[in-house]
Amino acid sequence: MRRKIVAGNWKMNTTPAEGAELAKAVAAGKKEICDCVNFIVCPPYTHLSEVVRITRGTGVAVGAQDCATEEKGAFTGEVSARMIASLGVEYVILGHSERRQYYGETSETLNRKMRQAYANGLTPIYCVGEKLEEREDGRHFDVVKAQLEEVIYHLTPEQFERLIVAYEPVWAIGTGKTATADQAQEMHAHIRRTLAAKFGAAAEQTPILYGGSCKPSNAGELFAKEDVDGGLIGGAALEADSFLQIGKAFLK
Ligand code: PEP
Repeated sequence: MRRKIVAGNWKMNTTPAEGAELAKAVAAGKKEICDCVNFIVCPPYTHLSEVVRITRGTGVAVGAQDCATEEKGAFTGEVSARMIASLGVEYVILGHSERRQYYGETSETLNRKMRQAYANGLTPIYCVGEKLEEREDGRHFDVVKAQLEEVIYHLTPEQFERLIVAYEPVWAIGTGKTATADQAQEMHAHIRRTLAAKFGAAAEQTPILYGGSCKPSNAGELFAKEDVDGGLIGGAALEADSFLQIGKAFLK
């Protein structure tokens, strides 16, 4: 049985006070939901410490949205994996399409970030996904395969066992357009096959999350698919109710 995971990416939203309220509401609502669903919230760096404190012992885990490529030193504005982990944060989102697109993150950058994440005990949520033109040209499977081969294939088998992958078609992020459940399943199966080609049977245990305009009304259909093990949620994670409803979609 693979883990079922709903992770909320708050992006650059909420003040620390608003984030604390959101975290409290998620933690309170989580109590009503079966432990079989793993909830993760990923607030901005400025909120991490307080959100860890609020969610401690509630079954809601905390992730960061990024980390630095380097361990420490003269890198103004950067936040290291060690700093993040020292707060009690367990996860880190790496390779989000907004980081690839707006901040020029390449596979080389991501290999360095992955090394830092693992060296400090963080579990990466590694994002892959094609742009609209790549899907329209029929290149979506190749693009996602390359994003996996160039980064994930460098992991050791022990590191791979802790990995979470998120498939986020760029054309579906924040656009209101969701991949159909069949499109998601087709890509998730492709991702699992690509992982299995390198890591064998261990790929059966890798949680693969879907992200891209996932909301309470479509989560059930997506999560019912064999290789869809949950969601990485953007907009709908900014309201505790909709985020929790998405988690409950597993139970229907
Ligand atoms: C995301 O950016 O990770 C995401 C899935 O966003 P949204 O749910 O808003 O499309």
